[in-house]
Amino acid sequence: MRISEPIGEKAKTQAMTSPPEHIQVACPKCGHVYPDWYRPSINLTLEHFDEEYLEQASTSTCPECGHKVRHNVLTVREDGAWEFSGEDETR
Ligand SMILES: [Zn+2]
Repeated sequence: MRISEPIGEKAKTQAMTSPPEHIQVACPKCGHVYPDWYRPSINLTLEHFDEEYLEQASTSTCPECGHKVRHNVLTVREDGAWEFSGEDETR
């Protein structure tokens, strides 16, 4: 069996930056429910977002207690590497 192709160019071009998705966030800390938005996928090889915007697009901050939630966002970094951010604040 020949394993020659990494994730091909075709797959990469399919990973478009998704439009902002409006969601209701239930704060895991205080239980407050608030509306926010995020982008399920961001392709930095196609888009040029600054750090601050990326933070906003991948996290929500509770207006009540300030607890930050990280959404599951697929990010394609500028060097082409894929990165999944997950919820890592459950502990
Ligand atoms: Zn909260």
